[in-house]
Amino acid sequence: MQQPDLAALAARQLAAWPLARDNYEALHAVRTRRFTVDGCELRLQFNPARIRSTAARVDARSVGERPCFLCPDHLPAEQMRTPWGDGYLLLLNPYPIFPTHFTLPALAHTPQTLAGHTLDFIRTTRALEGFTVFYNGPRCGASAPDHLHFQAGNRGFLPLENEVTVRTRRTIIPADTHGNTLYTLPGYLRPLLVLRSANETWTDEHLQRIIALLPTPPGETEPRLNLLGWYDTSKWTLCLFPRTEHRPRRFYAEGTGQLLLSPASVDLAGVFITPREEDFLRITPHDLRDTLREVTPSPDEMERIIRLLEE
Ligand SMILES: [Zn+2]
Repeated sequence: MQQPDLAALAARQLAAWPLARDNYEALHAVRTRRFTVDGCELRLQFNPARIRSTAARVDARSVGERPCFLCPDHLPAEQMRTPWGDGYLLLLNPYPIFPTHFTLPALAHTPQTLAGHTLDFIRTTRALEGFTVFYNGPRCGASAPDHLHFQAGNRGFLPLENEVTVRTRRTIIPADTHGNTLYTLPGYLRPLLVLRSANETWTDEHLQRIIALLPTPPGETEPRLNLLGWYDTSKWTLCLFPRTEHRPRRFYAEGTGQLLLSPASVDLAGVFITPREEDFLRITPHDLRDTLREVTPSPDEMERIIRLLEE
């Protein structure tokens, strides 16, 4: 995959699309709170334009009744479409979290799943050097669970990127002679698996093995997970977060008990998005820790998964 001039592409798109331009300009003034919880950096971004994603109704009926906003026929007329990889488009996301934020939908209306598409993810990660590419499972934050898509945002924005390199590791698969390895980060508030490799085939095989070992809930098509990846110094780093709940309990609470946090890849990577000012102002580090705990496996369950991977 050839990397187009992404900065030029984004600039052309913003010049031609007032809605996107306004939302990217609003991002310059976005308010952020920073916390350190158990040695992890967590940020909270107050981003009103993300209400459509945070509060998206993703049950089968709601999804079935709305026109799919990622299908080429339904994209806004102003949205520029750049062909990408094997059957995808590269689009500027008009409701950004990152200073440059792309969405990469499949051309065909096909369900959100990694099955058969892990190599697409890995190749996109390599081609978008300088960006973190991410995938939200259909029950783990994707607001279009019915249409396969990845997203990408600038490197240097997510605390995860630095933390996976500097925190103490626990090795699951020791590095081979090529440096291919799988590890986890003990005490990271939300359990994850980190693949580090210079080899595309090794990365794909191990990603598929992890997915095959994770439990798939009854009636669902794949294990619940969020996946982020980037490519630098001729190596992939893939971070997979196994998931349990789609949304924390307080998302569904009524009145003042409600917190509109709907964690997906970006939140698990350390930047929580909240579209409501009242939540932005009152959320405590304790709330963030509880939210992470509720949507990720318990230490015992994670230990079981790690043991399987060690075999
Ligand atoms: Zn679609």
